[in-house]
Amino acid sequence: MKTSSENPVFGDAAFAAHEQVVFAHDAAAGLKAIIAVHNTTLGRALGGTRMWAYDTEVDALRDVLRLAQGMTFKNALAGVPFGGGKAVIIGDAAHDKSPELFRAMGRAIDRLDGWFVTGEDVGISVADAEEMRKTTTHVRGIAEGGAGDPSPTTAYGVFKGMEAAAQHRFGVATLKDQRVCVQGLGAVGMMLCKLLHGAGAQLLVADIRNQAVREAGERFGATAVLPDKAHAADCDIFAPCALGAGLNARTIRQIRARVVAGSANNQLARTVDGARLSEYGILYAPDYVINAGGVISIAHEGPNFDCEAMLAHVARIGDTLQQIFASAERDNLPTSLVADRMAQECIAAAYEENQAA
Ligand code: NAD
Repeated sequence: MKTSSENPVFGDAAFAAHEQVVFAHDAAAGLKAIIAVHNTTLGRALGGTRMWAYDTEVDALRDVLRLAQGMTFKNALAGVPFGGGKAVIIGDAAHDKSPELFRAMGRAIDRLDGWFVTGEDVGISVADAEEMRKTTTHVRGIAEGGAGDPSPTTAYGVFKGMEAAAQHRFGVATLKDQRVCVQGLGAVGMMLCKLLHGAGAQLLVADIRNQAVREAGERFGATAVLPDKAHAADCDIFAPCALGAGLNARTIRQIRARVVAGSANNQLARTVDGARLSEYGILYAPDYVINAGGVISIAHEGPNFDCEAMLAHVARIGDTLQQIFASAERDNLPTSLVADRMAQECIAAAYEENQAA
């Protein structure tokens, strides 16, 4: 019997019938990257490029495979005509960046002839994406031809999703006077605070950067909580907008909010944590549904970019979540499971249509 370490691609649990996985190398530029195209039933694969100092190549491979599959589900439920994919550059974003590196990455993406379309992700800035854009046209999320940086649009989508969750859980039409704890005051979290403050919510905030916490206090009257206690804050809604895997066996027991709705990717440490949240009576807005504003913004890019139509599309994240919440309640299932099933059904239906055409 071969071990999974001898079969790290097709034999790995993260391999979920990916259509194409490409290893890209450019010795002169120092590029080592993996591009994973998971599923193109709904269209060309869309997903960000991440730069990370992985401990091992197997870690990088697992990450890109897992993230690419997540993008297939995200794009399906976001209603954008794209399949799912993702790329990772193996390297330290603080030390290993160079224009040559990103131009080499652009060439690798270009060789896929448009079947992989990318933008920024962890470790990649708009400037890096613009450098990639010099050697391939298949880069989005830059100022040219669209809304540019997707973070503000992601925040708007989270805000609309949070409204839907509050409506379902508390029966209220707005977020006025709701106590919301925002964990992570980066590009998305700070903008979310602005929208929540504008809607009359009361804010609790946490970040490991004191300066960001001070800023939220001054601009929005937010009260600071300790970063490692944010999930347990006394509030109605907990919005994780920092790192992934924050919802686990330990933290879920301590959550006092009745709703979890935030932008962070991969919030559930393990699949079973979706069920755990519902057992504890916490309404969870599945991360890849509520944080899809960025991909919707990117999908709308092009010569006929219409900002109003794009924002109307983002606002429909709230409708999708209402559907998920209602179905989860009716069938007594975790919202995370209902979302996965809806995405799979959407892809299966498109597959049948493609076969019939
Ligand atoms: P960012 O890097 O701008 O901000 C992250 C913030 O979290 C930083 O201020 C950081 O100091 C803070 N932070 C880190 N560790 C923390 C901790 N332990 N406790 C509290 N704060 C902590 O990132 P972003 O673009 O705002 O994205 C936030 C999350 O949303 C990420 O998980 C990202 O993957 C996800 N996301 C972002 C977008 C987008 O359009 N930017 C789209 C989809 C999903």
